[in-house]
Amino acid sequence: MGLPQVLQAMEAACRRAGRDPREVRLVAVTKGRSVEEIQDKVLRFGSFPLGESRVQEALKKMEVLKAEWHLIGPLQRNKAKFAPRFTLIHSLDSLRLAEALDRVGAKAGMRLKVLVEVNLGREPQKHGFLEEELPEALARIREMEHLSVLGLMTVPPIGPEAVVRPIFRRLSELADRYGLPERSMGMSDDFPIAIEEGATLVRVGRALFVD
Ligand SMILES: *Cc1c(COP(=O)(O)O)cnc(C)c1O
Repeated sequence: MGLPQVLQAMEAACRRAGRDPREVRLVAVTKGRSVEEIQDKVLRFGSFPLGESRVQEALKKMEVLKAEWHLIGPLQRNKAKFAPRFTLIHSLDSLRLAEALDRVGAKAGMRLKVLVEVNLGREPQKHGFLEEELPEALARIREMEHLSVLGLMTVPPIGPEAVVRPIFRRLSELADRYGLPERSMGMSDDFPIAIEEGATLVRVGRALFVD
């Protein structure tokens, strides 16, 4: 594929779903990629938010690349102090992390933008709140003065369309229910399905870098 083809596939999915393509943003996932690769395969085509999984790796790249940075991987509480360097944290997965981020936001005098991660596939090795924990967790997090909850995020189990589509659909239903505009879902193998089911942010890595 490559980035232009990913954008085309995003537009095609929007058309199929009767959605305005401007509602869906590409987050270019650049974890494990060098600065040169990112310039050549992503930034050459325009400015896109860059998604990184690990704080240390992101901080290094921030020194040389000008971009809007999103954190998409789990954030350890001892690294919460770096959160203000990211425009959006997709992976808020516990109340303790929320409390730590709220303190960091207070110290920095800002409201940190976050998405709450939901483990809809109920996989023990995955991060995120279980669906039944969400009402209380959201209520608590929304009370925190220095966090702004913009939406929900999920990473579905690996599987065919019959597995991932209902999960994407469910995330959209939950976001609707709680009045949250952003839905971060869909990766290289399934972003068109996620868009059909209401994604507003797709996190695509591999498909941008293959020739
Ligand atoms: C790596 C990663 C992606 C991108 O996955 P690809 O299969 O490379 O598109 C998206 N979201 C998260 C949370 C990731 O860790």
